[in-house]
Amino acid sequence: MRIAVLSEADPAEPRVAAVPETVKKFVGLGAEVVVQAGAGLKAGVPDAEYEAAGATVAQGAEETARDADLVLKVRRPAAEELPLLKKGAAVVAIMDPYGREAELKAMADAGVTGFAMELMPRITRAQVMDVLSSQANLAGYRAVVDGAAEYGRSMPMMMTAAGTVPAARVFVMGVGVAGLQAIATARRLGAVVTATDVRPATKEQVESLGAKFVAVEDEEFKQAETAGGYAKEMSAEYQQKQAELVKGHIAKQDIVITTALIPGRPAPKLVSEEMVASMKPGSVLVDLAVERGGNVAGAKAGEIVTTEKGVKIVGHTNVAGRLAATASSLYARNLFAFVETLIDKEAKALAIKWDDELVKATNLTRDGEVVHASFQPKAA
Ligand code: NAD
Repeated sequence: MRIAVLSEADPAEPRVAAVPETVKKFVGLGAEVVVQAGAGLKAGVPDAEYEAAGATVAQGAEETARDADLVLKVRRPAAEELPLLKKGAAVVAIMDPYGREAELKAMADAGVTGFAMELMPRITRAQVMDVLSSQANLAGYRAVVDGAAEYGRSMPMMMTAAGTVPAARVFVMGVGVAGLQAIATARRLGAVVTATDVRPATKEQVESLGAKFVAVEDEEFKQAETAGGYAKEMSAEYQQKQAELVKGHIAKQDIVITTALIPGRPAPKLVSEEMVASMKPGSVLVDLAVERGGNVAGAKAGEIVTTEKGVKIVGHTNVAGRLAATASSLYARNLFAFVETLIDKEAKALAIKWDDELVKATNLTRDGEVVHASFQPKAA
């Protein structure tokens, strides 16, 4: 069984899909691991460390992918990579499959068996494979670090001989995995933290982290969580009430971190232009939802926008990738945990159990077809 670890073709992707720790584990399972030269460099892993862990280092994608039964990647294989893969090879990556019919078809046509890690069910057995959580947690941490770096004042209260400086006020909007880590990080840095969400379960979580919960707690709020634990899209009436409440609160904040998402929908608009304008000069908004349309009016993907009044709106993309080494380690462990379930340890070969719920939930393409029910090509 040959496993290939490819470099990411996208220059904006610094993460890598395997680290020496996981290479060693794959070798322990009887696999031959080939890593593309330089694949780990942006994540702080030189080729020599992969070799020391038991991998062979190959030059270029073609040589690396040749005859591989399994290919590990961070992102979906690029069009130019598909012809390099063996027919029937399994590829495991973050596939970003929504609205990508043409790319999924290309993957199917190439005869590749594609698995999307982000479709992993959020059940106990699969927690160790949950890339959305491992990466969102880091993004939540990094959002606060980025916000603090752009903010021209200190986060904690400081009593100095030259006088006292107040603690920064941080408001976290959306308290999923990223938001909870943002609250914890801002608290560790000494900020006074408030947070909001539409799911009632978050109130206790916010309070247990020492932050104050701010939300419109009406009848609709009580029903806002789906059976899967996600947020519903709220009514126009609720959004109006929420905006009224947030308006007064936001004007007093120094740093606002937004993380609100609704599965399969554009990110909810939570901070209007008027709210941004109400903030003090020098205050900062960090929009973690910017790649999904953004929570903050005026946020631009990949840019830091400074408004006329001197408020900064930070729109970094791939925020977990800004911690490439840690993000790669956790992603690689998520991947190993899943791939281990695809291997027959006696035969030392891939033996995919097609009726396993994890396989069914993540498998996009197989035998030349797009097989996932959620991504069937639309009838003409
Ligand atoms: P997410 O990234 O989908 O959304 C981020 C947050 O935005 C959510 O808390 C959501 O309620 C909130 N939000 C949506 N619309 C909003 C609005 N209009 N105003 C304010 N906030 C809004 O969420 P996530 O981080 O993926 O977490 C979703 C759920 O999954 C949570 O309940 C989490 O605890 C759960 N979870 C379970 C597991 C597991 O069981 N293995 C793992 C991770 C997360």
